[in-house]
Amino acid sequence: MDRMHFETAAIHAGQDPDPATGAIIVPIYQTSTYAQDAVAKHKGFEYSRTDNPTRRALEQCLAALEGSKHAAAFASGMAAITTLAMTMTSGQRVLLPDDVYGGTYRLFARVLRDLGIEYETVDMTDLKAVERACERPIALLLAETPTNPTLKILDLRALAERGHAAGALVAVDNTFATPYLQRPLDHGADIVLYSATKYLGGHSDLVAGSLALNDDDLADRLRYLQNAVGAVPGPFDSWLLLRGLKTLALRMRAHCSRATRVAAWLSEHPAVSRLHFPGSAAHPGHEVATRQMAAAGEPLYGGMVSFEVADEARALQVCERTELFFLGESLGGVESLIEHPGKMTHASLAGSGYEVAPGLIRLSVGIEHVDDLIGDLERALS
Ligand SMILES: *Cc1c(COP(=O)(O)O)cnc(C)c1O
Repeated sequence: MDRMHFETAAIHAGQDPDPATGAIIVPIYQTSTYAQDAVAKHKGFEYSRTDNPTRRALEQCLAALEGSKHAAAFASGMAAITTLAMTMTSGQRVLLPDDVYGGTYRLFARVLRDLGIEYETVDMTDLKAVERACERPIALLLAETPTNPTLKILDLRALAERGHAAGALVAVDNTFATPYLQRPLDHGADIVLYSATKYLGGHSDLVAGSLALNDDDLADRLRYLQNAVGAVPGPFDSWLLLRGLKTLALRMRAHCSRATRVAAWLSEHPAVSRLHFPGSAAHPGHEVATRQMAAAGEPLYGGMVSFEVADEARALQVCERTELFFLGESLGGVESLIEHPGKMTHASLAGSGYEVAPGLIRLSVGIEHVDDLIGDLERALS
């Protein structure tokens, strides 16, 4: 069969009917171990930390969606990033965006640095600054685009070139874009990583993560670390994630269309002093986003929108007044969420030198009817 389209792979890759019963849905193999026919003679599975049939189906599906040779699933996005970081050794250095996901910053700044892994943050939209940071050896360049919470757009091809010239492995946290909108491996990256908790799962009912890549040797090393470190998802979460992936394309189209409408509406509201949405022509990363983020040839800019109001008091008031937009951390679910990065998600960046505007509000636009979403924001902003 020809290579499947994204929508088809989401439903079929790794998900042939169960050979024992014909069940068309991959079963939840809720088992820790497997009876062996004889010593060292088994049916491909020995112990569920090492491998489990539900998780294997998930990993095959994730690889198909990424267009990668390999994918590995983890218990959370942070478990995926930690396992990736375990490829580094004491004395090596990682380069991070200055507005990297707060948990990633915390891991490198407050946990791994104590083990001798060094880090540096840089504004990765500034390629000259990246080049300067690459003058000293780096082992890993970890990019993230769109970034959180101001949705900056990084030029992946340019960063992969700079990183590779410095001898670094280039990884991209693609959580905000998903493989439906952006394929970092096609732009020169070596590894893509996800918090599958967000759009990949899509229903705010699981925590998981993944890594995807093409290089066989690195994949062997990561597979070894996946088992050695042991931060793997259980069969039920693997199954839920497989179920979420089936509708990823449909959901992303719905998120993108609503976010575009919400952003256009916000841009004209008198209480909004600044809009951050890569789909808006005024956004500094709009051109790169148009080149880098697309589905079936059509540019799409994701489901996240941030905006600024006069000050912190006003921002907190708006966050507390919406009814459909639930006040909460996380993103990427079918239900809309609102939050105040300064006081919530980005509190862990305190001390990094990265400042979040006090009047900044972040929206994860869900797939409710757009008129209801705009009505909710209108009441909260009035
Ligand atoms: C949530 C998130 C993570 C961490 O993932 P968990 O599943 O919460 O461990 C990493 N990167 C980004 C961009 C995220 O949004």
